[in-house]
Amino acid sequence: MNFETLIEKAKPIRLAIFDVDGVLTTGNLLYSPMGLESKEFHVHDGQGIKFLQKSGVEVGIITACKTSAVTQRMKDLDIQHVYQGSREKISAYEDLKKKLNLQDEQIAYMGDDLPDLPLIQQAGLGITVPNASPIMHHYAQWTTQAAGGKGAVREVCEFIMQAQGTYDAIVNAYLRQGK
Ligand SMILES: [Mg+2]
Repeated sequence: MNFETLIEKAKPIRLAIFDVDGVLTTGNLLYSPMGLESKEFHVHDGQGIKFLQKSGVEVGIITACKTSAVTQRMKDLDIQHVYQGSREKISAYEDLKKKLNLQDEQIAYMGDDLPDLPLIQQAGLGITVPNASPIMHHYAQWTTQAAGGKGAVREVCEFIMQAQGTYDAIVNAYLRQGK
């Protein structure tokens, strides 16, 4: 999809939904001898989510897994719409869409594997990551440059804000005027 069309698709977005493993994380699952699982998130992605929320776009996650690490990270990022243990991701998507009274055109969904495919097709803006399976690239409207867990979510957040004209205000809040 060309850049101009992507910008048009990003303009009406009111809700960005992210898969967790392979999108908000690298996809690596670390198991200790105690059997505990830990995941690695990127600080840039977290900050991007905070900026996007500040710009007025709602953020949610839908993941098939259920872990305390994700619960904690979502709490830290103040993400209100958290669907964990969602085996049928599309029902979580429909639930959130109904709850926020949105149309598909107002929703961006980003995922990296086959369980995400129906949502990538359904959402107004379907996004995947460079290391996803080729089939994902075929159906997604956009593939980020950065890999999952390494800034891909930040890239999406900035793109949506730029398309909606809200990015400059975020940057200006940090700029020292007159320098
Ligand atoms: Mg995934």
